[in-house]
This record gives sequence, C-alpha cells and structure tokens, in this order.
Amino acid sequence: MPAKRPKNPARELLFGDLWEFDPAPETAPAHIAPRYDLFINGKSTPPKSKKWFDSISPGDGKKISEIALANEADVDAAYAAAAAAFPKWSATPGAERGKFLYRIARLLQDRSREFAVAETIDGGKPIRESRDFDLPVAAAHFFYHAGWADKLAFAAPGRTLAPLGVVGQIIPWNFPLLMLAWKIAPALACGNTVVLKPAETTSVTAMKFCSILQDAGLPPGVVNIVTGAGDTGAAVVKHPAAAKIAFTGSTPVGKWIQHTLAGTDKRLTLELGGKAANIVFEDATIDQAVEGIVNGIFFNQGHVCCAGSRLLVQESVAAEVLKKLKLRMRHLRVGDPLDKNTDIGAINSRKQLEKIRDLVGSGLQEGAEIFQPDCRLPSRGFYFPPTLFSGVSLSHRIAREEIFGPVLSILTFRTPEEAVEKANNTPYGLSAGIWTDKGSRILDMAAKLKAGVIWANTYNKFDPASPFGGFKESGFGREGGKQGLLDYAKIV
Ligand code: NAP
Ligand code: MG
Repeated sequence: MPAKRPKNPARELLFGDLWEFDPAPETAPAHIAPRYDLFINGKSTPPKSKKWFDSISPGDGKKISEIALANEADVDAAYAAAAAAFPKWSATPGAERGKFLYRIARLLQDRSREFAVAETIDGGKPIRESRDFDLPVAAAHFFYHAGWADKLAFAAPGRTLAPLGVVGQIIPWNFPLLMLAWKIAPALACGNTVVLKPAETTSVTAMKFCSILQDAGLPPGVVNIVTGAGDTGAAVVKHPAAAKIAFTGSTPVGKWIQHTLAGTDKRLTLELGGKAANIVFEDATIDQAVEGIVNGIFFNQGHVCCAGSRLLVQESVAAEVLKKLKLRMRHLRVGDPLDKNTDIGAINSRKQLEKIRDLVGSGLQEGAEIFQPDCRLPSRGFYFPPTLFSGVSLSHRIAREEIFGPVLSILTFRTPEEAVEKANNTPYGLSAGIWTDKGSRILDMAAKLKAGVIWANTYNKFDPASPFGGFKESGFGREGGKQGLLDYAKIV
C-alpha cells in the first residue's frame, strides 16, 4: 500500500516555553584599536586630511573606533607608494610571491577567531557566519592564489602573462574581509600592487589585516589601504596612476565609475547588485528546498549580492512551500550577533535599515501580503525581522529593486518556460537557484537563465576555484578561478 500523505505536511513539535536557549556569547577578544590611521608604504600613516570618522557597531549602535578619512592627497600618497613598489614586486619570482600569500593565509587562520569577532562587532553579521564562512573562505582565497603565483604560465598556455601595474580596488560592507581577500589575493598573485578602499561602515578588519601584512613581511607599498567614504572611493577611481579599477558595490556607483573611466586606458571590472530568482519545481525535495530558500535570503541578513530574493515556486506546491517556510521562519533567532545561537544578526547601518523599511513599506502599499514571525528585537542597535511577501507581481518594487535585507518576495509559475521568463525579467543577472529532482531540467534551465552563477539543489556555495560574477547590470569580469586571475593580468 502506498504511504498515506499526512494531512498537514508542515507538522510541528510544540514545546511551548519549555525549550529556551541560554545566551551563548562569544567571548574571544577582538582587539579593536581606538583609532586606525591609513596603511601606506607598509606603515600606519596619519591622514593628511587630519580627519577621522566614527565606526559604529550595528549590534548595539555604540562607537567602537575612529577611522582615518583619506582625502585626495592621502590617496595620491598611497598610489605613489604602490607605484614605487611595483617594479621590484612584479619582478619577484612567482614562487616567492606565492610564499607571501601562503604566509598571509596561515596568519589569517591563526587569528581567525579574533578576526571573526571583530567582523561581527563591526558589521553585525552573526558570529557563526563570520567564524564558519567569512574567515575560512577568506583564508582559502589566499591559499588558492598562492598556488597560482608560480603557475601563471599554465593560466594562458603558450602566451606570457604580465601584471597590469597599480590596481585601485573598492569594496562594499557586506563581506568586508572576504571581499578584501577576493581583491588582494589575485592582484598580488599576478604581480600587481594595490590601493584598496574598504566601505565606510566596515573598515576595522581591513585595518587589522594590515598587521598580518606586516607579520608576513610583505614589502612596503605592495598593499596600501585608504579608508573613507564615497569621495575617497572617487579619488581612487580617478587617480592617473591606476592601471585598473576593480569595484564591488551598487549598480549606480558602478555606472558612474564606468562613465568616469570611459576614454581612458584603465581596465575595469564591476561586481554589482542582483535580484536572483530561486526557482522551486514541484518535483523538488521540498524540505531541502525550504532550507535552501532560508539560506538564500536570510544568510548575512540578506546583505548578499547573490541573495535568492525572488522565490519562484511552481503553483502546485506553492501552498506547501509557503506553509513550511513560515514554520521555518518562526524558528529563526534574530538578535545579538555575538551570540552563537543567532541566525540573523544586525542590519549593517541605520541607513540600510531605513532603506529596507522604505522598500517593505512600498510592498505593503502596492498590495502584497506580508508575513513576519513574532520575534523580540533587541532594543538597541539596528534590527529587522525576517520578512516574506506573498501575492507579489513582477511590477512591484519589492520584486524589481535590490532590497539587500532579510526580505523575500514570492511569485508563482506554472511551466518551466514561465519560470525562465520571470527569472530573466530583471535588469540584473548575477545568480539563480534551481530546485528539482531532474538532472535534465537543471541543465536545460541553467542554459536559459541569464545569470553568472547558478546553483542547483543548493544555494550560496562559494569556492575560490569557481569564478563569480554577473551579466547585464550586475557587472562584468569574474572573481575567483582562472577567469578571475586573468582579470589581473595582460597578455604580452
Ligand atoms: P556602494 O554604495 O556602491 O559602495 C561600494 C563601495 O564604493 C564603498 O566602499 C563605497 O564607499 C564606495 N563608493 C561610494 N561612492 C563611490 C564613488 N562615487 N566612487 C568610488 N567609490 C564609491 O554599495 P554598498 O551599498 O556599499 O554595497 C552594496 C552593494 O554592493 C549592493 O548593490 C550589492 O549587490 C553589491 N555587491 C555586489 C557584489 C558582487 O560581487 N556582485 C558583492 C557584494 C556586494 P562608502 O561605503 O564608504 O560610501
Ligand atoms: Mg561598523
């Protein structure tokens, strides 16, 4: 006899308030200095601007440090140091350059708990994620590129690769140390020198990383870090000594950079925003898909460029998916980022919290139906509950604009063709997810989806050997893998 399907597929064990988590705060010291200057020519350097700005912890809204505000003269000094270091560094044999990258990777591993705590205090992400994702993957990027440094000849067989020169790099606040690793590791492996600007709200781990560069004995000037806001970034972009600009951030700023560099001979790679479709077919393993949906949108509070922020569910299983998803969302723990039990930490900044509130407000105004589980948010700091919108249509702002927060929009489809059409109906093209039991459907969908990264029966998986990047308004160029490496070299 076939097994009877349970009447209520989303069964729940109810324990009432018998099971409460005790607080499990991470207590390792983060060693955050009260003030950070710029890192130029291998040394901590006070800014010529004589200005510093406050760095806030979004977990409680308190000031944790002061960060130097680099002006044009400071950026100029950083480029001068990088240009002076370039001839010797680019002539250093690959095997020797690789040793520095190995040392950096090992030192990051040695201090990974300290860096994870600092990342969580500075940026608000749960300690579980900074400890188990950001730090190991950042170290993995240095290990991976250390391996390439003496094997560049194999990246372009029969051709000779040469470094570009000084590269200007600008990174966002969602994965501060990891984005730094994605940028610096391939640049150094190919023999370039670097001027890097972290995001204004998350500069702490980049400045701590400078002590790792010093301990690794990296020659002065090979990596220079200038902190500040948008104006500092603009000065990095416009500097005449830059041979290439590598930018990760929002699409509007990316467009401005492309416009600014037009007509120059500078190279450019852009890793911009996204609005990924996570597509669930009726033959998918629904429980597994629900976990993937939760990971896809609530990982790092949804501050993820490749977040699965548009859930496309086949109509026949939409009710079941929605029910199970709501049940799962009720068990997500929102709160203190330093608590090891926390699933969803703090929103990175007050500004980002306001943006999320504005877009959620537009979803309500345009008539979508909202679900938020009951959860007590901490009274201090910046928090937003996990949120799900059903009854969403493609014209709604919440279906079109990148929210960059823990907010999921659900749309339905009937046929694979309709799923493809809806998934591709966006200006972005960074990532997508497919959930199905059929291998042939995965291959067919993957060929039709216009997205740089496509996951099947999983989501948000990263590996340094696997290139990452987008199409359309999500940018161009790749990070990771051979493709990412080649974006930091020229064929001579
Ligand atoms: P953003 O405002 O574009 O900022 C990114 C970086 O650019 C920051 O360091 C920022 O400095 C700097 N910046 C701002 N204005 C600039 C200018 N005129 N010239 C040069 N630099 C300038 O983006 P965000 O809000 O920090 O980051 C979120 C965005 O990044 C999202 O759209 C997300 O999708 C995207 N992202 C993409 C990827 C990817 O790989 N595709 C990965 C992560 C994030 P301040 O922050 O100091 O102002
Ligand atoms: Mg901060």
